[in-house]
Amino acid sequence: MDFRDQLKLNVKAGAPIVQVVSHETLRVRAACSWVADQVGYDLYRWNRTRGMTLCSGDSRPEEGAEQAQEIFEWLSEKAQSREKVLLLLEDFHPDLLDRQPETISRLRNFAISVAMRDISHCCIVMSQPVQVLPPELEKDVQVMQMPLPGLKDLKMLMRQACQTFELPEREYHESPRLLEAALGLSTSEAQLAFARAIAEKGRLTESEIPLIVAQKEQVIRKSGNLEYFQPSSSMDDIGGLDRLKEWLERRKAAFTEEARDYGLEAPRGVLLLGLPGTGKSLAAKAVANAWQLPLLRLDMGRVYGGIVGQSEDNMRRALSIAETLSPCVLWIDEIEKGLSGMQSSGSTDGGTTARVLGSFLTWLQEKDKPVFVVATANHIAQLPPELLRKGRVDEIFFVDLPVEVDRLEILKIHLRSRGGRDQAFTEAELLELAKQAKGFTGAELEEVVKEGLFRSFSDGRALAKNDLSDAIAATSPLSQTMHELIRDTRKWVKGRAVTASSAPPEVLEGLRSEQKRLRLPQEGENPFLETQG
Ligand code: ATP
Repeated sequence: MDFRDQLKLNVKAGAPIVQVVSHETLRVRAACSWVADQVGYDLYRWNRTRGMTLCSGDSRPEEGAEQAQEIFEWLSEKAQSREKVLLLLEDFHPDLLDRQPETISRLRNFAISVAMRDISHCCIVMSQPVQVLPPELEKDVQVMQMPLPGLKDLKMLMRQACQTFELPEREYHESPRLLEAALGLSTSEAQLAFARAIAEKGRLTESEIPLIVAQKEQVIRKSGNLEYFQPSSSMDDIGGLDRLKEWLERRKAAFTEEARDYGLEAPRGVLLLGLPGTGKSLAAKAVANAWQLPLLRLDMGRVYGGIVGQSEDNMRRALSIAETLSPCVLWIDEIEKGLSGMQSSGSTDGGTTARVLGSFLTWLQEKDKPVFVVATANHIAQLPPELLRKGRVDEIFFVDLPVEVDRLEILKIHLRSRGGRDQAFTEAELLELAKQAKGFTGAELEEVVKEGLFRSFSDGRALAKNDLSDAIAATSPLSQTMHELIRDTRKWVKGRAVTASSAPPEVLEGLRSEQKRLRLPQEGENPFLETQG
């Protein structure tokens, strides 16, 4: 059921107040006009600058309802004279944000009168960019989200832009690909994107797609918490992680039309846990590239902020953009960052973190649009248990430190991508380097290659094995200082997550010495030792 039908249903069912959260003023107006027509009500529109106007053919101002407080007197007069009224209040929310008691009480009284049938055939629709719902009104207000323009709306906007700029027919080609490129933009953003393409190129055809996409990237970036990526990494750029790669490969086909016709559900997503620099983000980029889907990065830290209710709106808007752009990959980097306030949410942030997480989890579980979520996390301890529960994502993968064969592959990948330099070494030489770099993450191995190249370049010669082995010797890898985290994480993931690599993890020097310590007779029996078992 589309937005207009849902609104009509609410009005017909006698809902007293509907709050439509959207920036799409024109589309909300159009939807209200359609609904009023369908149910036989008069549509009135109020906003702060124009006061109240009747929106019929002769659109005329109404007397005495300019101020917010006069609206309700006006409405009660209409109700008494048994008029059927659909009242659209545009940007009325500042009054609710200020928590003006009279306004809240008037709205509540209106809702009660409708419930008691003292008033019938009257409905208030509030159209505003943020959801503001004082607790007193929670049970009386229906909240609705206006989705971003779909292909049909965009087609109309495109035609309108061509007419406005008097574009000759031969310079205009209404192709589905061109329209799809504009998905994710709001009405005004799409209007601007089309107008700019016409102004710059004097036409609107498939060759203007890069211009529209560039505009979209900018708009999505401006939204504050989403970033639009053009990933260039491929699955071949990932060393190791064979299980994860296989899993992703198997699910690739599930996003096709064919799979949907076959009755396969689109995969929900994966959660990748592991140390920083082990290739989790790389995997997110590679999957989007391999599946030929747009990649959106959601910055959880930036979802939070601003006025009451804004964090929830930020999250809702981000998810709505992702759905509009679907099929797509939504990459949530370091998901624990945004959720670290969970423990204190009740006391310090008024429950905002918990509410945002709640709405995200509900969306994750119930979404029917093909948005594949790749969430990455470095600190397992900070993850809320709700996220780890079965069914939220399709699989939880643990990305451990790369083992020897994986390190060899990673070294080759980074040498190859820098002028095919993997060919400058024998397999045995590279294996020796991989052995020496025990405990290194993929990111650290990449740094070793970069550092080696700096060394050889400053000496004015070709890269030699010593440059790389000196760089390894000069690095103190993260794993050296993060023994406890690695140990605890390995213990924690057992039975909870699948390891991304099929090779058994290597025992690191520091971890081995701790295990040795455990085997001491006087400690081996101690039930209070945390590391035991
Ligand atoms: P963070 O949480 O710090 O973002 P991460 O696990 O997401 O860590 P990446 O950002 O993917 O790690 O890794 C950083 C860089 O290290 C990658 O861009 C890539 O160049 C290199 N790298 C890491 N792991 C691998 C790997 N398995 N194969 C090839 N390169 C890797």
